[in-house]
Amino acid sequence: MSDAVAGLTNSKPLAKITDQSEPELRQWAVENEEKPFRAVQLFQWIYLHRVTDWDEMKNVSKKFLRKVSGHFTLQRIPIVRKQEAPDGTIKILQELNDRHRVESVLLNHGDHYTVCISTQVGCAMGCKFCLTAKMGLKRNLTPGEIVEQVLNAQSLLPEGKTLRNIVYMGMGEPFHNYDNTIHSLKILLNPHGFDFSARRITVSTSGIVPGIERFAGESDLQVNLAISLNGVTQEARQKLMPVSRRYSLEELIETCRRFPVESRKRITFEYILMGGLTDSMASARSLVKLLHGIKAKVNLIPYNEHALLPYKSSEPETARQFQQYLLDHGILATMRVSRGQGISAACGQLATEAPARPAGRDEKSGHPEPY
Ligand code: SAH
Ligand code: SF4
Repeated sequence: MSDAVAGLTNSKPLAKITDQSEPELRQWAVENEEKPFRAVQLFQWIYLHRVTDWDEMKNVSKKFLRKVSGHFTLQRIPIVRKQEAPDGTIKILQELNDRHRVESVLLNHGDHYTVCISTQVGCAMGCKFCLTAKMGLKRNLTPGEIVEQVLNAQSLLPEGKTLRNIVYMGMGEPFHNYDNTIHSLKILLNPHGFDFSARRITVSTSGIVPGIERFAGESDLQVNLAISLNGVTQEARQKLMPVSRRYSLEELIETCRRFPVESRKRITFEYILMGGLTDSMASARSLVKLLHGIKAKVNLIPYNEHALLPYKSSEPETARQFQQYLLDHGILATMRVSRGQGISAACGQLATEAPARPAGRDEKSGHPEPY
């Protein structure tokens, strides 16, 4: 039974079923004179068996299917392009109902994969080094549009491979779309559906302090937190990340210090190594001091250069020394392997539309106040 057929019974556009939490579906079922357990069945069919047609829902009565398909669509955001890099990284371009496009990236780790998903079309945060920033913010993604990126990625996995990790590190700032991000996490963690392990999900933020504080209070969501640091002094950081003018480095670090981390977990600090800008030994020393007393690990990211952006990657030897300094001072520091270079699928290279502002212009863009 297709949505199109079902849609004939209802002139209103169909709501996305993936936008609904399990309690919302339960309520909908009850309001439509159905048993609440229908919500569990729907979650199982959509996220566990990952069906794409109502008729595949075998243990569900035809009467109920007619009702539910007259109200909701099962259709996922369509994949309009799939590009694979020589290293196995797959960039997935998807089109939304309003023609905006959004990207996700599947990263190949051999027997398992990580998917990097987006939370917004573009981004309002204006980080100087990031290509997504050049688009400005177009709009927030709905919870369903976030979750469907995971369903789409799963559908592209090679035979026998599993999706092990989900990182909210694609386009957009998750805490600038807080409610939809949380809603999507609840769907991914739901034991009747994906049943994803919280330990295998990471949400990355540029440092929206009230968002981090709210996130700390979401005690039923023990997912990992990553902070894009990228500068070790207030002066250095605010030059690169305008968000730091609103929420200072000091405030950010204090908030991280208070963040409740379970015994096995740490906060990840992402730090981009940019030649002559963030990669000095003085910066490494400051970074060690800054993170003192925080259960932290540092993920060093070699800068991905782009013709539209003026920054340079660090020399490999400088990057190695930077990492070694952290390790020698008791900080768990990893170096991210840059992936998907040939297809612009690496960090900070996701941008689906022409830049909203020319390169190099200062950000006073008239976009809605993001924080
Ligand atoms: N908006 C969120 C999550 C998405 S950005 C955030 O900023 O945390 C994902 C990561 O890519 C961030 O850590 C960011 O610092 C990094 N990044 C952005 N542009 C980059 C570039 N050109 N090279 C390397 N990393 C980049
Ligand atoms: Fe947005 Fe993150 Fe890019 Fe900054 S680094 S502009 S917050 S996507």
